[in-house]
Amino acid sequence: SAAMIDAASGMVDTWVHEAKEYARTGKCATYIPALAEANPFHLGICIVGEHGEKQMAGEWNVPFTMQSISKTISFVAACMSRGIDDVMQRVDLEPTGDAFNSIMRLESHKPGKPFNPMINAGAITTTSLLPGSGADEKLAGILDVLEEILDKRLVINEDVFLSEWRTASLNRALAYYLEEKGFLSSSVKETLEAYCRQCSIEVTSEDLAIIGLVLAHDGFHPFKNRQVFPRDICKITKALMLTCGMYNTSGKFAAFIGVPAKSGVSGGIMACVPSRGKQTPFLGSGSYGIGIYGPSIDEYGNSVAGVHLLKRLASEYDFTVF
Ligand code: GLN
Repeated sequence: SAAMIDAASGMVDTWVHEAKEYARTGKCATYIPALAEANPFHLGICIVGEHGEKQMAGEWNVPFTMQSISKTISFVAACMSRGIDDVMQRVDLEPTGDAFNSIMRLESHKPGKPFNPMINAGAITTTSLLPGSGADEKLAGILDVLEEILDKRLVINEDVFLSEWRTASLNRALAYYLEEKGFLSSSVKETLEAYCRQCSIEVTSEDLAIIGLVLAHDGFHPFKNRQVFPRDICKITKALMLTCGMYNTSGKFAAFIGVPAKSGVSGGIMACVPSRGKQTPFLGSGSYGIGIYGPSIDEYGNSVAGVHLLKRLASEYDFTVF
């Protein structure tokens, strides 16, 4: 009912307010200098339901760059063009327990083969598998999927792109090693340019919520009333998000929040809440997508206030898939 929604909306405002305090325990990413300029106390959330229900609170309308959240879409696009078996020749589907940009076990595992598409080594490989030769064509493969979902044109934040491009030595090192071992299908330069551009795609919490909703719905777009990408690829993507999407805190995230989610170092989190058998206040029983923006991140690269807020929502509304 309307009264219930108003009450729930008041609660979300309160939880955002409470969660903001936790921003103090983290800080904005600085290794990409442009990200350091964000306001660490911004915290926004948008929740979108399959029937068009929408709730937002805080700085939900502040644009930010997708960063690692784009890895979910580049994976979807690569699987759509090559098929999952072909993609798995080059990228495994195993969690690492290491940092997102770790180089350490690239040599010791199956030499060169990245553990999964949600860490940098795997995502750089996935991007190289996208159709087309140049960076623009590869980027177009990702933008096409996103623009199809969101029904609007997206822009690249050039400041963030250049800032990362100029400082991406570690990602270059990963890419050269991958190239040496034969895992890339395009040059290091093209691959990294496409990768840094995809990380710089600008979105809002609302955009992430809609993408999350389509994923929650196994690739079916409830507002367009049609399948925008295949169900099987969507299931695999969500499994990857659950096991690897929050990097080396994915286990605890699965334990205490329990839904597929993907974070980025800009402070974004995209989460997919599948439909639950039971009715819960406001959220009802349908599926939901959630987008969060809170740029103060922890040592793992996840939004501190954002994770706190999701934990709160997950316990109030019993999100877990388990
Ligand atoms: N662009 C960032 C990088 O490659 C993305 C990492 C992230 O969001 N965790 O380092």
